[in-house]
Amino acid sequence: MNSNIFLPGLEAFVVTKSCVEDGSYQLHLELEREPHSCPCCEQRTEKVHDYRVQKIQHQHIFGRPTTLFYRKRRYVCENEACRKRFYEDNSMVERYQRQSVEYKQAMGIELIHGKNFKDVASRFGTSPTTVMRRFDHISSSMLSETKQLPEIIAIDEYKGDAGGEKYQTIIADPIERKPLDILKDRKKETVKEYLRKHGDNV
Ligand SMILES: [Zn+2]
Repeated sequence: MNSNIFLPGLEAFVVTKSCVEDGSYQLHLELEREPHSCPCCEQRTEKVHDYRVQKIQHQHIFGRPTTLFYRKRRYVCENEACRKRFYEDNSMVERYQRQSVEYKQAMGIELIHGKNFKDVASRFGTSPTTVMRRFDHISSSMLSETKQLPEIIAIDEYKGDAGGEKYQTIIADPIERKPLDILKDRKKETVKEYLRKHGDNV
């Protein structure tokens, strides 16, 4: 089946097969063949070397957990002296990742809306620890811009059930209404230590 249904994050892909198995939605997809520049010598090529199917966890589609089977194309440089083999460019999954970019963004949005780690984890078919790591990543990219906390912060405890601790502490900016950081537990010393490092303006 080839379909043109609009699927967020997958616009460029051709769906070659879709089915439901064990309650989860499976999509087989690939990109159109197109000329690429060799990363070594920059010669243009569209000569295909081979394909490899990569299994990727994606966000829910039509209410079902979704797995993508991406038939990833590898090109080979046509320059006789080079012969470099390289994967096609794609916007769906980063190198060495098993989850799609869209999946990570969707998880980030839910976290920012204040769902707890356990709920988000079960919705996304992963562990609370993975969700927490994701949250850390999002908040550290926000924090890296400021490094210092704003003058007014909100400190809340959060029943995240992550990393062997039942509660975590969430540091948020109540004015901008965004989470800034998450601490691994709700112990006084952890919060104190954190404020000592980042809280000169608080
Ligand atoms: Zn080359």
